[in-house]
Amino acid sequence: MAGIGQHIEYAQNYIAQIDSQQARNMAQESGLSAEKANRNVERLYMVVQAMWELLAEKTGLTHADLDAKIKEIDLRDGRLDGKDSTQTIPCVCKQCGRTILSGLTSCTWCGSIIDDNAFRHSR
Ligand SMILES: [Zn+2]
Repeated sequence: MAGIGQHIEYAQNYIAQIDSQQARNMAQESGLSAEKANRNVERLYMVVQAMWELLAEKTGLTHADLDAKIKEIDLRDGRLDGKDSTQTIPCVCKQCGRTILSGLTSCTWCGSIIDDNAFRHSR
């Protein structure tokens, strides 16, 4: 059974696999140093782990429930590939009507803020 230990191992392997070129690219794109970018990933991982452990303790949800939800989210874009490509599906800006990517926090064309989805992120 895939448990939280497996997810921890996956996250640790993912962090370890970020090579120096990827880290430099991430830092250049985000304006962060590679070290800070990696620290942010590690911090984010710990927050997610803490949230999951609290949720499991308080609700009785199991690792099987977590695994099923991860698989369901992964499949929302039609592919079981460990990525959520729904963030890159084209959509229309409500302000200017131009086509933008669904995961953006602001319109590329007019700059209007898009705040109707808590999981949007800067690109
Ligand atoms: Zn716009």
